[in-house]
This record gives sequence, structure tokens and C-alpha cells, in this order.
Amino acid sequence: MERSTIVRVHEGLHARPATRFVKLAKGFESDVELVKDGKAVSAKSSVKLMLLAVKENQEVTVRANGADAIEAIEALIGYLENPRAGLDDEDGQPAAEQAPPSVAAPAAQSAPEATTGLRGVAASEGFAIGPAFAHFPPDIAGQGRTLQAEEIAGEIERFRAAVGAVQARMDRALTQDNLSAGDRGIVAALRDIAADDSLTGEAERLIKGGNDAISAVITAASTIAADFSAVDDHYLNARADDFHAVGRQICLVLLGQDDVSLENIPEGAILIADDIGAWDLARAPLKRIGGVVCGHGGATSHIAIIARSHGIPAVLGLGDQINALRTAREVALDGNSGRVIIDPDPATSAEFGTRVEAAAKERAGLTVFKTVTPTLADGRVIEVAANIGSLEEIGAAQEAGAMGVGLFRTELLFMRHMHLPSEDMQAETYTALAKAFAPYPVIVRTLDIGGDKPIAGIEFPDEENPFLGWRGIRMCLDRPDIFKRQLRALLRAAVQGNIKVMLPMVADIDEVRRTKVLVAECKAELDAEGVPHAAFDLGVMIETPAAVLIAPALAREVAFFSIGTNDLTQYIMAADRLNPTVAKLNDVANPAVMAAIELTAKAGVAAGIMVGMCGEAAGRPDLIATFVKMGLTELSMSPASIQRAKKTIMDFAAAG
Ligand code: PEP
Ligand code: MG
Repeated sequence: MERSTIVRVHEGLHARPATRFVKLAKGFESDVELVKDGKAVSAKSSVKLMLLAVKENQEVTVRANGADAIEAIEALIGYLENPRAGLDDEDGQPAAEQAPPSVAAPAAQSAPEATTGLRGVAASEGFAIGPAFAHFPPDIAGQGRTLQAEEIAGEIERFRAAVGAVQARMDRALTQDNLSAGDRGIVAALRDIAADDSLTGEAERLIKGGNDAISAVITAASTIAADFSAVDDHYLNARADDFHAVGRQICLVLLGQDDVSLENIPEGAILIADDIGAWDLARAPLKRIGGVVCGHGGATSHIAIIARSHGIPAVLGLGDQINALRTAREVALDGNSGRVIIDPDPATSAEFGTRVEAAAKERAGLTVFKTVTPTLADGRVIEVAANIGSLEEIGAAQEAGAMGVGLFRTELLFMRHMHLPSEDMQAETYTALAKAFAPYPVIVRTLDIGGDKPIAGIEFPDEENPFLGWRGIRMCLDRPDIFKRQLRALLRAAVQGNIKVMLPMVADIDEVRRTKVLVAECKAELDAEGVPHAAFDLGVMIETPAAVLIAPALAREVAFFSIGTNDLTQYIMAADRLNPTVAKLNDVANPAVMAAIELTAKAGVAAGIMVGMCGEAAGRPDLIATFVKMGLTELSMSPASIQRAKKTIMDFAAAG
């Protein structure tokens, strides 16, 4: 039995989506295969599946044979047709893969031209200079001895125990609190490789053929890595390194050795290596590492991902040039241009030193604002809150000093799963947020989705222009089953903290009134069911020109406004926010947009309701004073902008 479909999984079946697909397939008794261009592979091996290099929009066939073949085909086809499938793992951790830096930074930010140096891949931006810390662990070689027949069973046992130990070590690492969500995804991907029978099965086959376990692991890892290197796909090429890394870990356990440790890396040192296993780097004292330079790796390798997520400048992919760095005493690197300078001369040292110092000084100077409550001369407090989209971001928001959440985008909650999230699951999420930030408010935006970002469980019509179509509050009001589930979950979570709710894309006052009717229905239902719940403040996003023009009337209906400058700008300027050709028009500082913001603020202030902003502009240091003067008392932004925004407000307050 078989069925064909077009793959919609975002960017195809690369590491995590492939692993999730395999997990789904393994849940069925039937033999299941995935076929592409006439080539069939078992759907129960993630390595084989990855090597099939299935891309988004390619046609594939799912073939199943067994008692539950129909169910298997149904489920697997559903998975392949879901654009978000596998992008987040089932524990809710975001996948490790992140977009590589798009372009190198402009020349103005690069290192002084006068200096020559080596060139590699600019994999993580920023400047670094420091003592070289060379990390070239010795290669591991097999014993190269043929096993006697009676030794084979024992060797297989030894090998399986080593694999088990590596898996257990990785499982333990996954429970450590100090692992960021991104690192966790990477360690999880390595653990999947350690558990996949492509590597272990091939190694066991070689042991049965008389190879010692270490030789078998090295050969098996190299064979699979070579297959990955041969695929015409950069992302998959980078996975070759992961097989070597996992193979090395198994070999070290077999040898009873620990790997050369990065534990002792000095403060601010530049880590120089031919290759660093993502596993090793994720466990290294990353706060002490000033920069990373590697022979292997590229912008999408796990080393690059870890470096970027920890703000460590990195230049990778130097190839054999790395050998020139083995004996370096000092290294300077420019992660924006990919330049590496060995033992820089005094002028270059000074130049790099100044750049590194300036960046560190700015960061350090801002950290004092973490606990600051920005207050104006007249005593008004400006709440600087965070925009987040998942529970994993709570830590970063708190670390930055967020005074609550000004925009919780609930789309991810819906996109992450292959089904619409249940009321219980949503209530748990909103409750976790409310508790994390109490007594500060958490403003949850109701589902803001349209045909441009479809999700499983909602059928969107084909639209000429989804940005002007059935989206946000429009869709929710037409699907009260989905909307009420979210409203009920929010009413339940409001018992646990300061939950506020806001509606996206409002263009007509009737949309607010109809929502209020649904909220009242939800309350009555919860009362009848004896489920504890509490009222929440209801607000609207101001992101359509219509909402600006009826702001005085809207202000009488709601508890607050939050200006969504991202959409407001595109709708006021009639300039698509995603279209680079009209990017110049898509400028919040354009007088037309600023006038719309001012009208909104006036209406809100006159009605005595809170006026906030949650579009990107809220974090712009050049505009913050203007917004505050207009009467805005809440600014919500990405956590990375919070400390600078607080400082800007305090500077404005001090200037009187
Ligand atoms: C906005 O439009 O300004 C906004 C915050 O919402 P989003 O970017 O999610 O559309
Ligand atoms: Mg918007």
C-alpha cells in the first residue's frame, strides 16, 4: 500500500524533522519505506532518511506493508504535509538549527584592512583577541587486529555497553539546567545519532566480521560521514562531523579515557582546533571563551550555532590553514569578515583591543539597567517588557530585566503541534507564564494567523492577498470552537497571575464586542463546570489604519491599546513588510506612521487607558523619547533590546 504527496516540511527532512518522522514510523508495526526518485529507504532509520535528502516541495511516496499500514500512511503523510513538522521537538525545545548569518557585515565593521591574515567562514559575528588555546586531541586509532571467533560476542557486548554509556551521558547532559534550548537541541541530535542503528548496526556488522570495536566504530562513522559529505546539501554536509564526534565518544569509552578537556581554557582565550565536537563545545566553559577558530565547520555547523547563541565570535572552515595556528601565542579574529590574524602586530592588537573593549563596555554598562524601573521626572513608570513566543524564552527575558511580557505570540504554540493545542495544554502554558512574571503582567495575544502561515487543523482558503485576508481576529471569530478554547484557557490561567489578553488585527469595533460575548459565554461555561477562573483585562492591538481612526471609540471598549508598529507601518504605507523592494517606505519613522501613533496615543490617554507598543519600533533608542512624550507607558521588545531601552528612558528622564 502506498500514497504520494508533496513534502511541505519546512526545509525538508533534515536532522530533527527526519528523526521525528522516524519516531512516528517506529510507532507502527508495518514495514514503512519512503521513496524519492525511485530510491526507497526504510522510514525507520533517520540516517538513511536524511541521506535521501528530501527537500521541501519534492514529491515522495510513503509505502507501508503490515497490519496497520493504513494508519501508518495516514500519519506519515500528515507529517510530511505539515510545514512546521519536527521543527520543535516533543519536549517543546526548539530545534537546534538556526539560520546562518545572512551576509557578512558591512566593510565599515570589519577589521583594519592594512592587516593581512587567514580567511575562513565568518560563522559568528564580533571581534576577539586573546591568548591562543590550541585544542588538538590526538586521533584515535583502532587496534587493527582480527578477532578470534570466540572473542566476537564479548566485543559486541563491550561495544553495546559503550554505546549505552554514551547515550546515558548525553541523556544526563540534556537534563542539565545550564544548557540553552539551542544547545539542548544539538545534544539531542547527537544522542539520536548514537541511538540510530545505521551507525551502531554498521559497527556491529564490522565486529562480527572480525574487527575490533574501535576500528569498527571509526570505519562505520567514516563511511556514514562520507555519505553525508557527498550529498549536494550544505546542511547535510555539516552533519558528517556529528558522526565523527559520536564515534569518537564511543571510542573513548571503549578505551576508558576522557577526552582532552576544555575545562582549563583561560579567561578570554581563543580556542583553536581542527574540529571541536558540538558535544564538547556545549559542555565547555563557554563564558570564558573569547573566540573560536576551526579548520572544520561552516556557517550551519553545530559549532557555529553554539557560538552564535552564546555571542562568541567564530571563524570556521579554515581547512589546512589551521595548522599555522597550532603554535600561535596570540590570535585576533573578526567574525564579521572571517579574518584571523596570528600574533598580531602592536597596531592591530590595539585596534582589536579597542573594538572588543567597546563592545564589552557597552554590554557591561547596560547590565546595571536590568533591575532599573524606568521612571520619568513626573513619577510615571514606563514598563519595559518582553516580546516572546515560547516558554523557553522566559529565561532570556528575565535575565534581561523584563518587567513582564508585553506580547506573547501564541502562534508558535499552534504551529509546533500537528494538532490544535488542547485547552489544558494552553492553560498550562499561560499559567507558567503568569507565574514566571508575577506580579508583572503577561499580555497574551490571541491567535494571529492567516493563510501565509497555515497551521494544522485549520483550513485556510487560497487568497490573493493573505495579509488583507482571513486572519487574526477575523478567523478566530469565524471559528469559535478554536477561539473559545483559547479564551477558556486564558480565563483559567488568570487565576494564577496577572494575565491580560489582546486581540490582533482589529479593524471594527464589532470584533471587540463579539469577543466580549464569547468571553462571557466561556465564563458561564466554566462556572457551570465548577472550573476556577478569573477575569482578565481585554485590550486591542492597534495595527490597522481603521483601528487608528476609530481609536476614541475603541478606547471606551477596552482596557488598553498596544500599538503593533510592524503591521501598522505596512498598512499605513501600503508597503509589504516582507518585500525588500519597498523596504524604504516601510519605515515607522515616516511622518504618516508617526501621526497614526500619535492619534492612537491621544485617544488612549484621553480615555485614561494604558497605551503601549509591541512592534519592533518599541526598542528603537532614537524613537523611544518621542513615544514616551506621546504618552505611551509600556514598551515591549525582544529581550536583547530591554537594557538599552531602559537606559534610553532614564537618559530622557534625566534630561528633563
Ligand atoms: C506588529 O504587527 O507590530 C506585531 C507586534 O505583531 P506581529 O509582528 O506578530 O505581526
Ligand atoms: Mg502584527
